[in-house]
Amino acid sequence: MAIDFSLSPEQQQLQAAARSFARTVLSQVGPAIAGIPKPEERFYATRPFYAQMAKAGFVAALIPKEYGGTAMSTVDLAIASEELAAVDINVPSALLATGLGLEPILRFGNAEQKRRFLPDFITNGADRLAAFAFTEVSGGSNYDCPDPAAGVQTFARREGDSWVISGQKHYTTNGCGWDGNGAHLFSVVCRTDPARPPQESLAVIVVPGSTPGIEVTGFLDTVGHRAVVSPRIHFNEVRVPAANLIGKPGDGIAICSRTFSWTAALIGAACTGVMRAAFDCAFNFARSDKRSGSVPIIEHQNVGYMLADIKMRIEAARYLTWKACHYFDSTDRAGDELAIMTKVYSSELAVQVVYDAMRLVGVDSYTDLHPLAALLQDALCFPLYDGGNMGVRRRQLHKLFRTPGYDPMAAAEGRAPAR
Ligand SMILES: Cc1cc2nc3c(=O)[nH]c(=O)nc-3n(C[C@H](O)[C@H](O)[C@H](O)COP(=O)(O)OP(=O)(O)OC[C@H]3O[C@@H](n4cnc5c(N)ncnc54)[C@H](O)[C@@H]3O)c2cc1C
Repeated sequence: MAIDFSLSPEQQQLQAAARSFARTVLSQVGPAIAGIPKPEERFYATRPFYAQMAKAGFVAALIPKEYGGTAMSTVDLAIASEELAAVDINVPSALLATGLGLEPILRFGNAEQKRRFLPDFITNGADRLAAFAFTEVSGGSNYDCPDPAAGVQTFARREGDSWVISGQKHYTTNGCGWDGNGAHLFSVVCRTDPARPPQESLAVIVVPGSTPGIEVTGFLDTVGHRAVVSPRIHFNEVRVPAANLIGKPGDGIAICSRTFSWTAALIGAACTGVMRAAFDCAFNFARSDKRSGSVPIIEHQNVGYMLADIKMRIEAARYLTWKACHYFDSTDRAGDELAIMTKVYSSELAVQVVYDAMRLVGVDSYTDLHPLAALLQDALCFPLYDGGNMGVRRRQLHKLFRTPGYDPMAAAEGRAPAR
């Protein structure tokens, strides 16, 4: 059988467990953060939920079996992520950010680095936060700009057996840790030589959160993802062992790009979850509310057509996400074209779908009578973050199409790209 979208018994179990966890535990996140004015305080309030998510096995899912984890495939993570995101976007985003922080070690780290950094996230996973310190205060899109004067401006200087890192980052999800003193582990994107282009100097260095010189200087407040923390982190002469460099200088471009391909695929699942929540709200409203007419509004053709349009788009996003994750997994992560497309397509669809659900429900959707306005605030983030669709993601696709020998059917047919 060549194509089969039915879930295996294990995947059905995973989906049911994630759905039940989301309904019983994550449904309490909204009430727990409501009315808290400061972004960091909202994030700190999610700590017990993160701990429960770790206890339910979602942190171990990120880590290979030989280091104590369960090494969930990207497809399986997507199946679970849709269920989680359909109820709450905040705590699953902290999990994704821990995954983002660990990905460079998981995929590019050597055995010694994996042994040194990963087991802590199993033994103490309920409490541990990793962070990917990529975005600079001056921007993220042009991190790999070949002009040595441009691009990443966080630098690591070699001194004996150490790297000494200085630079300013923001949007470092999880970066403040649970107490404002820093995450437990950072993967810091930096350059090892200001005179050399990123192709020769871009690097990812692991920085334990306890290292002196890490300063949380403030917090950005965001319009949605209200309990996902976006701190500003300054690295002031932060000294770590030379052995914390992942790969070699210049490998940073491949590490960043591969790391963000994994998140791109999974964000498709988060978008599907948010769209599902919007559909459920609009659907229940349409079936039950007459708006002082004589029949529930689902009886009106425009409402039925709009529900059909919303549902079709959700189904399309889900299967594109599954295909993208499957292609990513089955090509040992070399095939990322569909992951990037999933991120662009699903994120822009999510904004439109939530807005259409609001148009269906009407003016009350603009108030706190319904969750739709809050869902729109969450959805607006999807096209903008994880490499904005304009500054990063479409450019990645554009670059792919310009690659000599690009095969337009490779992804559809599951073949790894010839690169
Ligand atoms: C909730 C949230 C969580 C996040 N988590 C993290 C995290 O954990 N770690 C992290 O490092 N970052 C994080 N970010 C930041 C995020 O990943 C950004 O998407 C990324 O840094 C790039 O931002 P950008 O695409 O807007 O690029 P910017 O560099 O800010 O560019 C802005 C705009 O300029 C234009 N532009 C710039 N350069 C070009 C170009 N060469 N060609 C064409 N157009 C261009 C585009 O229109 C682009 O949209 C997070 C952001 C949010 C909101």
